[in-house]
Amino acid sequence: MISQNHETELEAAERRIARIPRCGAAKLASMEKSFLDLLAAVGEDPQRDGLQNTPARAARAFEFLTNGYRQSIDEVVNGAIFESEASEIVLVKDIELYSMCEHHLLPFIGRAHVAYIPNGKVIGLSKVARLADVFARRLQIQENLTIQIADALMKTLHPAGVGVVVEAKHLCMMMRGVEKQNSSMTTSCLLGSFKDDARTRSEFFALLRE
Ligand SMILES: [Zn+2]
Repeated sequence: MISQNHETELEAAERRIARIPRCGAAKLASMEKSFLDLLAAVGEDPQRDGLQNTPARAARAFEFLTNGYRQSIDEVVNGAIFESEASEIVLVKDIELYSMCEHHLLPFIGRAHVAYIPNGKVIGLSKVARLADVFARRLQIQENLTIQIADALMKTLHPAGVGVVVEAKHLCMMMRGVEKQNSSMTTSCLLGSFKDDARTRSEFFALLRE
């Protein structure tokens, strides 16, 4: 049985997915062809039962996983910026991130913590998560993803400062067994007062430990 609340969340997610810009029939067909070639190349029989629709499904999955290329920050934020007198750290913690490493096309999965100090304006909470997704839904390395989220918030909101920390586990490390199985990577990007002011910085890291 699904609770009412859960249904609503699911519906909201479906509405969001429906709004995500598609890549177009030609590109989808090209991805499909590539996945068909890949199946043959790994030694599979693409015609066997279980694989009949796999190239089409994988193409749709990749279309979704790279939808950040077709979204802009302005569209995502869509005016959800409000006047505010607030001047203390605003922290959005534990934003789930699902991205794909650009070196192996394998997922890396983790959390982002995004903080800023308002300078007359604040941004809708859910918009911070969606802004992170615009960059996560591209081929990435974690270091750049962290910087891009921080830069985008800086340019959109013009706050006194921005701090972004991303913690993630990389399946290209875990599945291929090249590094410690459970190692996760932490990256950070500090801008403005988060970079220049030691007190802001230590308050930010203290909030993250809470
Ligand atoms: Zn990788």
